[in-house]
Amino acid sequence: MRVVEVLPLLKTRRFDLALTYAVPGGMDVRLGNTVRVPLGARVVQAVVVAAVREEEARKGIRAIEEVLDAGEAFDAEGVALARWLSARYLCSFAEALGCVVPPGALPRTFEHLSLVGEEPKPSASVPERLIRLLWDDLREGFSLQALLRHPEARRAGDRGALLHAISTLVRAGSLIRQRRFERARITARLERVLELGDGAGGGARTNALIEFVRSQGIVRRADATLAGFSSAVIARAIAAGAIVERNIPAASLQRMHRSYVSEFTPTAEQTTAIARIDEFVESGTFGEVLLHGVTGSGKTLVYLSTIAEVLERGGRALVLVPEISLTPQTARRFEAAFGERVAVLHSGLSDRERYEAWQAARRGDVDVVVGARSAVFAPLRNLRLIVVDEAHERTYKQESAPRYHAVEVARRRALELGATLVLGSATPSMEAYDAVCAGRIACVRLEQRATQMPMPKVHIVDLGQEFVRGNRRIFSTQLVEAIAERLRRKEKTILFINRRGSARFALCRACGHVPTCVRCSVSLTVHRAENLLRCHLCDYREILPSTCPRCKGPLREFGTGTQRVVESLGELFPHARVVRMDGDTTTRIGAHARLLDEFAQVGDILVGTQMVTKGLDFADVTLVGVIAADGDLHIPDFRAAERTFDLIAQVVGRSGRSKYGEAIVQTYSPNAPAIRCAAAHDYETFAAQELRDRRELAYPPAGDLAYLAVIGPVLVAVKESAQRYATALRELPDAEVLGPAPFVPAKVNDQWRYRIAVKIPDGERLRDHLRAEILPLARVDRRTRLVIDIDP
Ligand code: ADP
Ligand code: ZN
Repeated sequence: MRVVEVLPLLKTRRFDLALTYAVPGGMDVRLGNTVRVPLGARVVQAVVVAAVREEEARKGIRAIEEVLDAGEAFDAEGVALARWLSARYLCSFAEALGCVVPPGALPRTFEHLSLVGEEPKPSASVPERLIRLLWDDLREGFSLQALLRHPEARRAGDRGALLHAISTLVRAGSLIRQRRFERARITARLERVLELGDGAGGGARTNALIEFVRSQGIVRRADATLAGFSSAVIARAIAAGAIVERNIPAASLQRMHRSYVSEFTPTAEQTTAIARIDEFVESGTFGEVLLHGVTGSGKTLVYLSTIAEVLERGGRALVLVPEISLTPQTARRFEAAFGERVAVLHSGLSDRERYEAWQAARRGDVDVVVGARSAVFAPLRNLRLIVVDEAHERTYKQESAPRYHAVEVARRRALELGATLVLGSATPSMEAYDAVCAGRIACVRLEQRATQMPMPKVHIVDLGQEFVRGNRRIFSTQLVEAIAERLRRKEKTILFINRRGSARFALCRACGHVPTCVRCSVSLTVHRAENLLRCHLCDYREILPSTCPRCKGPLREFGTGTQRVVESLGELFPHARVVRMDGDTTTRIGAHARLLDEFAQVGDILVGTQMVTKGLDFADVTLVGVIAADGDLHIPDFRAAERTFDLIAQVVGRSGRSKYGEAIVQTYSPNAPAIRCAAAHDYETFAAQELRDRRELAYPPAGDLAYLAVIGPVLVAVKESAQRYATALRELPDAEVLGPAPFVPAKVNDQWRYRIAVKIPDGERLRDHLRAEILPLARVDRRTRLVIDIDP
């Protein structure tokens, strides 16, 4: 008989076993299919995780009921990768498999409701309004999800009340409730294109655009933008009817860009780097290279040229970037270079589009995939090169299960496939630096900026001194003068501040009361413009009180946020055009790109949080200001110094890319090595010192580390469980166990959190111990949740 291994997809994470089912004659089942199988008294969805095999007939084996879709959501490499992932990060096989299966690939289940029997009488729990909706409007049957979203239903009650009404109706026999599957529908990826219309041109830019479109016949809108036509110009041409915009299936577009021609002549350093990486790729065996290039050294051109070589030889390439929405410029350069051969997996894609891109990768319709962390699982065949841009970034570490690090996964894939892994960075992680020092991986350096401009001159301003001199404003005198100078010269400024809102917190000057979140143990942030106090962890909001809620004393605001910086700029420079970019102004998809375009075209000053520190490449930015560089320096994390160095080096690197530039770093810790070295563009000194410190304390990369977080609503239960785990961990020889200690902050969203840190020279032994001793304890603990983070 034919049998196959399947993994049932159940809500409970604990069920983690692949089971064997019989394949009925004539049924075509393949690895990666989604199927329906009987399990106990139920029928559940499952995924096929092995190839069908012949086995001697035996009794008691149940059969697959149905194959749910034609597509294969993953392949054998994906299954192997998922198995490795679950062993490496101690997550369940199902969670791991969730990574290699793109969202949208699995048929969705939903609860289908249908009417039976008589229309019931309205009652306290089933309001008249709901009955009218069900029996008059929706009578054909509908999903529970759709009902809960229906505005008319909402008027009849909140979610809880509606669910209660539904169960009442089901019990009374007026409704039937069934689980159904919605099959994944695969739709073609659409592309926005421009063609000539009948209308006439107008201004010089519009005419240039018309010429551009005429010369190409049909142009992807993205390419027109890349060619320098702004959205405003395109919109005007469309309004005048000179240009028409349409959506067409991407596959029907001709593959326009067959070969990549670099936009510049590579510099000597770039040429050497390209040649070195090519050697690795050509060797056909696994190799890892750190491309250590200062900000503005032109790493992207190196990636593009190396990828072009790979494609030339019939191979494929994967490019990981920290976050597409933050670096639209980089993504556009890949699209410009490889056109239809590249799929960019940005966050604006729907699940369907993502799934389609995934399938295109598997079919071999695209040769390059560019995407954020999760793209590391993209099923490209004949993958020869994986590039991780800004490889030191923390966004490559996933903060929910499975807590993998994309660089680790990339290394694993490259190793299995004999491919080349390139880690690009201006500020390599300590792990990468250590690996280079120890000779485990190769290093290629780009020490000069590609534009031949010097690195910006960085001035450190001691805020303590500034305060002593009587300046209590956000901006030091030096920074105010520097900004004024840029406005006169029509050059641009970027200001970085690590907090959104107007003030960090409010404090009563009479009794010392600080308003805190009701659900989290943190102070609330002042948002003056909205007249609110907001929690930045759970988004709890309350009206900003005018006096202290406890003693009616005067409230004063401390610390600064983006809003406050923008207000101050308005007072100092009323004519400057200021663009604010932070978590509050970028909630909508595409907002980043719009704000960046606005800054590029008409802005004088860009004020923002972390978002403005990375990847931006604007020619006329000649000043970068860091409002307070200390923010991350004092957080209790062994990477605090590394993060501060990285942040300052990166943000300062936005300045002076094609004109002489400078940067001003305001700080209360002018002598901290992370700040001094970043200001001096001295990575080596910082890294060598930092690595010595890590060795002394046995932190990574000197040893392995894991965090165990114990989380629950009852503080004593959390403390007790944490203590039990810590005791069990202390039985492990050569492990250094720290804690349990409360997290900072200790409570988020009404959940208490305690943490145990374990340092050990050999992480494999720790994982064995966790599996054998700790996970069984966690399985029977009903009062708390255990979250294990390997290599945090
Ligand atoms: P990095 O990622 O290393 O910070 P980028 O790849 O963003 O640097 O390149 C920085 C700038 O230098 C970009 O504006 C790019 O167009 C330009 N550039 C790159 N290579 C060259 C070159 N060979 N000649 C001139 N300009 C270049
Ligand atoms: Zn909160």
